[in-house]
Amino acid sequence: MIDIKNYNNQNIFAKILRNEIPSEKVYENDHVYAFNDINPQAKTHVLIIPKANYCSFTDFSENASSTEQANFYKSIKEIAKKLKLDNGYRLTTNIGRDGGQEVPHFHFHLLCGKSIL
Ligand code: 5GP
Repeated sequence: MIDIKNYNNQNIFAKILRNEIPSEKVYENDHVYAFNDINPQAKTHVLIIPKANYCSFTDFSENASSTEQANFYKSIKEIAKKLKLDNGYRLTTNIGRDGGQEVPHFHFHLLCGKSIL
């Protein structure tokens, strides 16, 4: 069962951040990394993650510094601009077992285009 109380540094996004497994980078800054989802549910499906270890949105919103949080949300706008998503997009974050979260490293899904979600 997914554990979003204790960060597990063997999760797949932790391995991506350590370059142990490859990813298609879309954007990066000091605090944030964004890459294409391996199983896209829309024409554009990007995963946006903090570089620091947070299990979920709950953990991030409770424990990340104001600087980290501000940087994270600003980065979403920068990614949308970089990808020219001028007509809008969808953001989702799944939290915990009942929220459908599979990877226990906080992430936003940014989706745009024909979506099956
Ligand atoms: P969650 O269900 O946790 O909100 O979403 C996890 C997302 O991670 C899924 O959309 C899934 O396709 C994506 N994902 C899982 N493993 C990998 C991987 O190894 N590489 C990439 N790029 N995405 C992955």
